[in-house]
Amino acid sequence: MEDHNQKLLQELLKKSGNNVCADCGSPDPEWASYNLGIFICMRCAIIHRGMGAHISKVKHLKLDRWEDSQVQRMKEVGNTAAKNKYEERVPPCYRRPNKNDPQVLIEQWIRAKYQREEFCHPERQSYLSGTMEGFLMKRGKEENRYHRRKFVLSENEDTLKYHVKEDKEPKGILKLSELNVALAPPKIGYMNSMQLTFMKDGTTRHIYVYHEESEVINNWYTAIRCAQLHLLQVAFPSTPQSDLVLRLPKDFAREGWLWKTGPRPSDAHRRRWFTLDNRKLMYHDEPLDAYPKGEIFVGHESNGYSIKVSNTGNGCKEARFPFQLVTPERTFCLAATTHEDRACWLLVLQQTIKRPLTPQDSTVEATLVRKRTSSNSISIFSGR
Ligand SMILES: [Zn+2]
Repeated sequence: MEDHNQKLLQELLKKSGNNVCADCGSPDPEWASYNLGIFICMRCAIIHRGMGAHISKVKHLKLDRWEDSQVQRMKEVGNTAAKNKYEERVPPCYRRPNKNDPQVLIEQWIRAKYQREEFCHPERQSYLSGTMEGFLMKRGKEENRYHRRKFVLSENEDTLKYHVKEDKEPKGILKLSELNVALAPPKIGYMNSMQLTFMKDGTTRHIYVYHEESEVINNWYTAIRCAQLHLLQVAFPSTPQSDLVLRLPKDFAREGWLWKTGPRPSDAHRRRWFTLDNRKLMYHDEPLDAYPKGEIFVGHESNGYSIKVSNTGNGCKEARFPFQLVTPERTFCLAATTHEDRACWLLVLQQTIKRPLTPQDSTVEATLVRKRTSSNSISIFSGR
């Protein structure tokens, strides 16, 4: 039976702002932090509980007993007022999470808001300075072992460097303005991890890093975005900041195994790990490879890009759900193992083909085309 206080809480829930989780925006929150005065979802409630009751006191809206004073506090604050207070100074480069985002992002967003109160005290936002130094665990290029490496970020130099030995020359120099960062792709197997993807000698290269502490990875991630935003502001002074923010790194639109076959009907199917990074569809032998075997630019439909669904496989048992990615130069014959998996790939590829090209996309396209024409016989582009 609902008691009087629970009824009042259900009424408060209907108020605008309270009908979605205060932290991740997922609908119909069932929990609350009654000292902070906010309505939250279960996933965020677990993170709140993890901070300790001295920061956030969590209760279920229906399953727990509520005191009058606690309900009163919920009424006085609520999600909108709490947002105005705890998110007052969120820097534009900061990625605000939504409900489907990686755990590291949601957890650090909540801890930044209420535990460290970073957005009430901007001087605590160490990631805004344009420089950062520290150690991360980096996966070896050819082996599944991680090594401690020193990383140095410099916005002024437009670089992210890493060192094997602290006092020696850097082992790798990544151009910050061309760097893509995907936060915690599940394939890495570490919650607090990043995949850094960049161009090296005309070829895409991936490196994989993690840190035991989620705050450290989140700070690196935010520092890279912040430096990139500043570099974009310098390069495009008249473009509104809100448009530049959209150009900051995004997690991969989709990753997974697909079967790929050559252009001839007799060609065998090979299993490849596919990654759709914005408009670049890469395929690899293994998920954590350092280099893709091939890269396909996914352009706009008006330039001759399309998706076709075929209902007949060519006899390969596991490649049961084929589809074709048509580009101006070549048709790529791909296949998924399940109907659902194919549906997801079709959806995300179709969305990509319909999305207008940005100037940045055209740069990526030009790089891939240049690579293709400069490596005729042993073409990495059409690699199997
Ligand atoms: Zn939530």
